[in-house]
Amino acid sequence: MRHPSPDPPTFSFELFPPKTPEGMAKLSASIDRMNAVGPEYFSVTYGAGGSTRDSTFETLDLLLAKGIEAAPHLAAIGSSRAQVKAILDRYRGQGIHRLVALRGDLPSGMGLGTAGDFRYANELVSFIRQETGDHFRIEVAAYPEVHPQAANADQDLANFKRKVEAGADAAITQYFYNADAYFAFVDRCAGLGVQIPIQPGIMPITNFSQLARFSDACGAEIPRWLRKRLEAMGDDIEAIRAFGHEVVLKLCRRLLAGGAPGLHFYSMNQAEPVLRLWRDLGLPGAEGL
Ligand code: FAD
Repeated sequence: MRHPSPDPPTFSFELFPPKTPEGMAKLSASIDRMNAVGPEYFSVTYGAGGSTRDSTFETLDLLLAKGIEAAPHLAAIGSSRAQVKAILDRYRGQGIHRLVALRGDLPSGMGLGTAGDFRYANELVSFIRQETGDHFRIEVAAYPEVHPQAANADQDLANFKRKVEAGADAAITQYFYNADAYFAFVDRCAGLGVQIPIQPGIMPITNFSQLARFSDACGAEIPRWLRKRLEAMGDDIEAIRAFGHEVVLKLCRRLLAGGAPGLHFYSMNQAEPVLRLWRDLGLPGAEGL
């Protein structure tokens, strides 16, 4: 491991780049609230094919101007080596030291001819190491419930290992609501000699229809009992938030008690749900909440 993780668990937030100046102003206020608890870093998503390139840059500039450690996601599918190299040079020049390296998904309708120079994330990780040595701490994606396009769980695990062998320092998981899937995945990794920290990705539950849509798209499972309880709450947003908070809080507690090396919160640019979790978990910095 080139950038070993510090021993105590680490906690981070994920943002997505807003589309409008109003969205950016709102995000700036949310970042200030989230940053007050002292997360390790904020990551910023990137649309495959460069669809959010400028707004990802703008969001990163906002974080850097506030003196906050930023970790851009870089989804390489549809890009050439030269395009990725230009982005790496920019980030290096800005003093960025962390990246989340991903394949990304081609927008539907784009054929294989538009895939660009990178077919899989391991190729991107190799390229980053080749071009920038040990400059970046590289995080990659992990799928405790198996990536939706994987031929099977064993091959998916073998493909995850390729990314680690290519030079990833750590991983962040797709979100899940079944802690056993995470622990089983970590055990299987250890069985293959894969020892990097695997940070659970935590998605707060605040809106059932949105969550159901995301989960269908990314292959994350909402367990039947949870889906049925949320469905029964209909449009009662308050009830969904209160129940969702308790469910995710218990999940986080179980993960940390079981040895997870920290948590990466998918904030969806909303400070309230993730800070509530932070407070009830009693994480460092929660005193003022
Ligand atoms: P890979 O690791 O390349 O895996 C993709 C599939 O190919 C898997 O089924 C795997 O088993 C298989 N595979 C991998 N390597 C090989 C190989 N060498 N040979 C054959 N098969 C292989 N998407 C975005 O567009 N922007 C983002 O900012 C973004 N952020 C994310 C953050 C996290 C923490 C996670 C978990 C996902 C994120 N995604 C993002 C979604 C991600 O891009 C998709 O899940 C995508 O389908 C897979 O990306 P990957 O990097 O995991 O791909």
